[in-house]
Amino acid sequence: MKFLITGGAGFIGSALIRYLIKDKSHEVINIDKLTYSGNLDSLRDVEKSELYSFRKIDICDSEAIRGVFLECTPDLVINLAAESSVDRSIDDPSKFIETNVVGTYSMLEQVRHYWDEIDGEKREKFRFLHVSTDEVFGSLGMQDEPFNESSSYNPSSPYSASKAGSDHLVRAWGKTYGLPVLITNSSNNYGPYQFPEKLIPLIIINAIRGKKVPVYGDGTQVRDWIHVNDHANALVAVAEKGRVGETYMIGGNNEERNIDIVRAICEILEDIQFPKPKGLKYYSDLIDFVEDRKAHDFRYGLEVNKIKNEVGWKPSISFSIGLKETVNWYLSNEWWWERLIKSD
Ligand code: NAD
Repeated sequence: MKFLITGGAGFIGSALIRYLIKDKSHEVINIDKLTYSGNLDSLRDVEKSELYSFRKIDICDSEAIRGVFLECTPDLVINLAAESSVDRSIDDPSKFIETNVVGTYSMLEQVRHYWDEIDGEKREKFRFLHVSTDEVFGSLGMQDEPFNESSSYNPSSPYSASKAGSDHLVRAWGKTYGLPVLITNSSNNYGPYQFPEKLIPLIIINAIRGKKVPVYGDGTQVRDWIHVNDHANALVAVAEKGRVGETYMIGGNNEERNIDIVRAICEILEDIQFPKPKGLKYYSDLIDFVEDRKAHDFRYGLEVNKIKNEVGWKPSISFSIGLKETVNWYLSNEWWWERLIKSD
């Protein structure tokens, strides 16, 4: 099968492409604008494969996207391209509206024209899978039931509002034009090749460099964590087996408080034979509680029964093992992240 992936040079997109090519032998066309978080180094494992090709294109550029559809005739599209940082969305929301809302609209229109022109089995099997987040549902209290496919949208940040907007567009294009769309809402991802500003890589990299390890507020916020390889696996399962027009929650069944993750990383580092920064007794001495993020959601949690029952997918990587492997990956792959933190 021929997959068109948008945002494939990002954290999740690159994991998905590595999985599609190395494990499933599918053909992949990767479309990415290469913003600050897009990094072709994450695709070194597959860049020489004859199954892989890359186009540096903005998803808002309708003409260029149209050209790719005509030339490559994909069987499936998975849309991951997005501005993805809550903090950056608070500082400057404009790019988030542009890429996440207008860009998704633009993709939907090009997909609609393309789908109108194909026929037979190719049309029958075509899917547009839009990758979204649990953040569109807002915040849970400690006693609330986790989010599921019927949860109401209640976004708090410009990022989550722009992702909510894109989800609504996708659903409307499915209902109005009959486009074979699917939506997934995933919880927080972790794993190798994640941009160093995100919580887990930031903690690891700051700690080994002897820099302060910032924790928002009192650190008691709760997120459900899923390994990025589990997410990649789930996306392919939904694309292949999900029911058209449906939404699926993708979660790790693994709710953790931020502060507990930070402490767990410090403990993992204590156990590893890695030269400690000079004068530092314990990595946990670097923990620095900083002013909380504006409108910071307290808790996200997801129920994953629908994807389990309908698609046959469930998370398989345990958080304690995945976290240890992730710490080790950052310690062994400075070549990948060093350039990205040069500006600190
Ligand atoms: P990321 O920031 O690492 O990657 C985003 C990619 O999109 C980058 O390669 C970037 O260059 C590209 N991009 C940005 N604007 C573009 C544009 N206009 N045209 C083409 N390419 C563009 O993000 P990620 O963490 O890999 O997230 C991927 C998707 O998954 C996003 O849609 C995000 O909302 C969603 N998601 C992420 C998480 C998470 O924990 N990281 C959780 C749930 C959902």
